[in-house]
Amino acid sequence: MIFIINVMKPFLFSLALLVLIAPAGCKRVGNAGDSPGSGGHVHTAPHGGTLVEVGNHAYNLELVRDGVAGRLTVYVLDGHAENFVRIAAPSIVLVAFVGGERRPLSLKAVANPATGETIGNTAQFEAEAAWLKSTAEFPGQIESLAIGGTTFQGIALYLRK
Ligand SMILES: [Zn+2]
Repeated sequence: MIFIINVMKPFLFSLALLVLIAPAGCKRVGNAGDSPGSGGHVHTAPHGGTLVEVGNHAYNLELVRDGVAGRLTVYVLDGHAENFVRIAAPSIVLVAFVGGERRPLSLKAVANPATGETIGNTAQFEAEAAWLKSTAEFPGQIESLAIGGTTFQGIALYLRK
């Protein structure tokens, strides 16, 4: 028992230290061309859109703008942006910042008979707005998004094309 206590004490102490140090020590390592948090490897957007990391390498969102139709599609992807991740949300609210004003977009869940995706169980969301035809680049934010039992808050994004 004494042995265990003597071993556990420094162990618990270093564990406590680790917990204290971890947030500050979580530096991103990678080259300039890597997407943030990719751990040194590059993620490729499946539809050639803009990738937005969600959490620390947990998930990705791919933003695809159709400038002709004035449509924005968001796909929910896994940590390496390789597989689609279906979520239960009926919509995703994205607030775009355009010309100093907030422009909320409510992206509705899209059903897809080919993949079996339904509203309430899909990885694809869409919204249409006339200003999407003329505004190519804009920063924005998704206030809250639940994926796989985790709710992510304040997901900052920048649509580049
Ligand atoms: Zn990755």
